Amino acid sequence: MAQGLDGTVALVTGASSGIGYATALHLAGLGARVAVVARRRERLAELAGRIADAGGEALVVESDVTSEQAARDAVDAAVQRFGRLDTVVANAGVMLLGPIVDAPVPEWERMVQLNVLGLLYTSHAALPHLLSAADGGPRSVADLVLVSSVAGRVARSGSGVYNLTKHGVGAFAESLRQEVTRRHVRVSLIEPGAVKTELSSHNRPEIQEQNRARWEGMERMEAEDIADAIGYVVTRPRRVAINEVLIRPTEQE
Ligand code: NDP
Repeated sequence: MAQGLDGTVALVTGASSGIGYATALHLAGLGARVAVVARRRERLAELAGRIADAGGEALVVESDVTSEQAARDAVDAAVQRFGRLDTVVANAGVMLLGPIVDAPVPEWERMVQLNVLGLLYTSHAALPHLLSAADGGPRSVADLVLVSSVAGRVARSGSGVYNLTKHGVGAFAESLRQEVTRRHVRVSLIEPGAVKTELSSHNRPEIQEQNRARWEGMERMEAEDIADAIGYVVTRPRRVAINEVLIRPTEQE
């Protein structure tokens, strides 16, 4: 039985495109007021407009979550505006593929800074508020949803450092889950396979070409498919915690 999100507040990082955008829209549709966080303000403003047009409420937070202070300020802005925080989706991420040998080291640094540190900063800033939401309020439960990847389960040649970051997210999620679950903060790991978003577009052109060839002729998932899964996770009754969702396109081996 689903439990709606009326009266609750959500924060989504990486909400200016792809999975984060679709998730913010979906959570708003389920009744949450939503803080939408990313660097591209105009995209966030467009999303907030769509949410408002549908009768919801969104707060635009322009933020680069690779800065600890910026991630903390984003969380604080949501709590200041809406008074509480029940659901956090730490989704912002970057995937820069290619061989490890002779790789451009700045690409590794970008992935570690965003996929690992950005997610940690967001979680660290949000946890006191989630614990307090779980201790009272409309649902007496709170959700921290961490977006990993199939790449957090299976390592492949050509995605070594992306694999490293996403495997790290999985380990962090399980450790934190054990730490806070008795206090009714549910920590859930989402592990998507290939989704049609901007993710691949940040790669060098030759890598983008290889990636295009890899998925050619295969029907990838839509961002809404992942948003739907996240919506399922965060609307379970208080007694039910979905720890992990591994979700691939049907045609992905
Ligand atoms: P997109 O590239 O479409 O979205 C990434 C989002 O992250 C954007 O909103 C971007 O916004 C935001 N972002 C990037 N850098 C920062 C930053 N420093 N601070 C705040 N926000 C930032 O990709 P997806 O939607 O596909 O990716 C979302 C998550 O899903 C990632 O963690 C990715 O690893 C994961 N994933 C995606 C898969 C796929 O096939 N697409 C498969 C498996 C996992 P802005 O540039 O405005 O800051």
